This record gives sequence, C-alpha cells and structure tokens, in this order.
Amino acid sequence: MVGLGSMADVPKDLLAQIKHLEEIFTVPKERLDKIVTKFVKELEKGLAKEGSTIPMNPTWCMGFPTGHETGTFLALDMGGTNLRVCEIHLPEEKGEFDIIQSKYRMPEELKTGTADELWGYIADCLQQFIEYHHEGEKLDKLPLGFTFSYPATQHYIDHGILQRWTKGFDIDGVEGEDVVPPFEKALAERGVPIKLTALINDTTGTLIASAYTDDQMKIGCIFGTGCNAAYMENCGSIPKLAHMNLDPELPIAINCEYGAFDNEHEVLPLTKYDETIDKESPRPGQQAFEKMIAGLYLGEIFRLVLLDMHEGKHMFEGQSIDKLKKPYSIDASNLSETAELMRTQFNLQCNKPELELIRRLAELIGTRAARLSACGVAAICKKKGYKTAHVGADGSVFNKYPHFKARGAQALREMLDWPEKKSKRDADPVEIMTAEDGSGVGAALIAALTLKRVKEGQL
Ligand code: BGC
Ligand code: MG
Repeated sequence: MVGLGSMADVPKDLLAQIKHLEEIFTVPKERLDKIVTKFVKELEKGLAKEGSTIPMNPTWCMGFPTGHETGTFLALDMGGTNLRVCEIHLPEEKGEFDIIQSKYRMPEELKTGTADELWGYIADCLQQFIEYHHEGEKLDKLPLGFTFSYPATQHYIDHGILQRWTKGFDIDGVEGEDVVPPFEKALAERGVPIKLTALINDTTGTLIASAYTDDQMKIGCIFGTGCNAAYMENCGSIPKLAHMNLDPELPIAINCEYGAFDNEHEVLPLTKYDETIDKESPRPGQQAFEKMIAGLYLGEIFRLVLLDMHEGKHMFEGQSIDKLKKPYSIDASNLSETAELMRTQFNLQCNKPELELIRRLAELIGTRAARLSACGVAAICKKKGYKTAHVGADGSVFNKYPHFKARGAQALREMLDWPEKKSKRDADPVEIMTAEDGSGVGAALIAALTLKRVKEGQL
C-alpha cells in the first residue's frame, strides 16, 4: 500500500491516474464470486463435451502413485526459456531420488520457426545428454516422460494432438497434429535410444510428483509463463468419455487447460490494456484468463499502462520513451524493482510521484493476477466438493512474484466459506503450497505408472 505521507506529495493529476488504475485493476469479492460461479459451470461443460472453451483434457494418467514405482527414466521438459533433460532413478522404497540433469537454452527463434527445427533441436539436446552421460555404453531404449505443456488431445498417454499453441509459440504445421511421430522421427534419424512412454502436461506432472510425498494433494497448478491446473476426476463424472464404458470409479487426471476460461469475455474484468495484449498476440481470442495472470503477460500489461500514461502526458515528460516501446521487454520478475528497472533498462528517470504510481501499478497488476489465479483453484474445489485440500503450485510467478502466495490465499478465503480459525497458526483448509518437481520426478513417475499398466495388461 502507498503510505498516506507519500501520497500527499503526489500532484492531483497523477493521483487521479492512480485512482483510476486502482478502479480498473481491483477485483472485489463480488466479482470473484461471479467468476467462480461461471468457472464451475465451464469445468462441467468441458467434461461433458469436446470442443468446450475449457478443454478438460483426459490425460490417461490413471490415479496417484503408490510409492512403489521403480526404475530409471528420462524426463524432458520443453519450457519457454529452457529445455531440461533429467535422468531419474526411482528407488524401490519411497525415498530420495537420484537425479542427473542438464539444461539447454531454448532459442527464442525456435518459438516461431518451423516444426522440423523444433523437433530437430530437441532431439539434438537429448542426443547430447545421452552421449555425455552414457558415453560408450550399449543402451536399451530408455523410457521417456515428455512434459509438453500445451493443450493436447490424447487418445492414449503416448500421443497428443496439439490443440493450439499458447505462451507466444507460433510454429506452423503442429497444431491439429500428433506431436509424437515427428518427435520420434527426429530421434530415430539421429539413432537416439529413447522410447517416448508418456506425453504429459506440466500440471499433471506437478500433481503426481506432489501427491507422491503428500497424500492430501488434490490439485497441481502452474502459475508461470502460462497458467493451468490438473486434478483427479472419476471416469464416471466425465460424460464425454461415456462411450468408452470405463469403470466409473476409475480415477483419471484431467488437465483442465483453464487458461482459456472466459474466452467469451463475459465475466473477467478486462481493461483496455488486456484487450491490446489479446489483439497483438499470435492467438487473439484465446487464453483470456491466462493473458491476465500469467508471467508472460504481466510485464507487458505494466508496459502498456506506462506508455498510455506517457501519451496522456502524465509521465516522463520531455524524456525519450523509445526503449519502452519494445513489446514484451519487461520480465515479470523485475516488477518488484521498478525504480531500478526504469533507470537501467529504459533509461528513464522517475520523480517521486511517478515512482509512486509505478510501484502502485506493479502491486495492482500482481494482486489482480493472484486473486484471479485463486478463482481457478476455488472452482475446482467447489466442483469436487473439497472442504480441505493441498494444492501443489509451481512456476515463476508463484515462486518469485512478491506476495503472490499471500494474496492468492486471501482471495481463496474470500471465496470459500471457511470456519473461523481456532488458532492463528492453523493452516487454511485449502492451502496452495510449493510443489515437487513435476516435469522431472512427476514425468518419471507417470512413465513408471504407464509401464506398470502395460505390464499388467491394462494398456
Ligand atoms: C498451457 C498449459 C500449461 C500452462 C502452464 C498454458 O499456456 O496451455 O498446457 O499447463 O501454460 O505451463
Ligand atoms: Mg515450465
């Protein structure tokens, strides 16, 4: 909060701007409630029908690990900035895992390049990994859990048709196609001894890795470059799978893909800045919810507001804002160091009142993101009737954005009717906590669970 003392020094015009920003970026409880009400309905719709706004993708990850999963697995995480390859040894009894890992840079050009370049690059990294860690060994094919964190339709756990790119990726010829065959082809061309066992989403990995060590774990979330969650559903509650005659009690992880919530723009409190982000993105009209809360967009919202303030002649008068004109030039993780950021990255000097506005703006954008993020979690809890739950969360925004956790918890408290706490130290009934490594350990566990099902003849 901006202290009254400092506000007294802010000229009237800027004060009016701050007030306006507070109005458009604040999400009061009544709005949260309205959002959650629609959210619950949309989760249901997604389970009922293919092609719904929130896809609610069945992942064919059938239930939680028992703790007895064993073996050696590779895990590949294709993220926005890095490509991570791990080799994980799951011990006989639940305990410490052995992990070796290497990180490779994910070149920015790849995101808008060709499909061949993408799969070729990934296969090269895997090849390097194997050559480095298994030099001269004669290897049987190693099973791989591939964390592919984009919406995919899966008819089997080792296939996935990309529904659409998100998070700024824009590679032709991948959407609408199964991503596994070209990936395996690139491996085969290089003679890399790897067999893809499971294609997973980062949220599913997070759910499974966290549930391995915590039996209260019910939801896995990512609040990072993108946003999304997965939870365990019963097959009997998924009308769109009814034709498969699955055991209604059988659990299956659902990758919600709820970044697409409210693409119809009915309940989200969009500002003109959010509209600009959408319009200028490679996929307008998609990922409406994600575009208001995920790390990829928070810095951009901030930048757009500042540009607008300058155009309205409220800020940076007489200074060149050329550097600020570059889209996506602000990393969300820098929003806590705004003064420093303006000076070093954009060569802009701020007077005290301007700094007040900038600090308040960063706080407003972060608070809005945290409160909206909590709506997705609240909606799953309401839909499932969870009175208590642990929610495992990962991602740069959750882990690094100041106060994100506390603000999310506060919003949950406003939305879910909880009994009065007996003691201040009591945990909240639904608690969002730091997750275990989903795209490493989670991917390995899911690969292990899959191989076990193959062995038992269930697949
Ligand atoms: C993707 C999801 C992913 C989330 C977090 C979204 O953009 O569509 O599949 O789980 O980002 O990485
Ligand atoms: Mg990731």
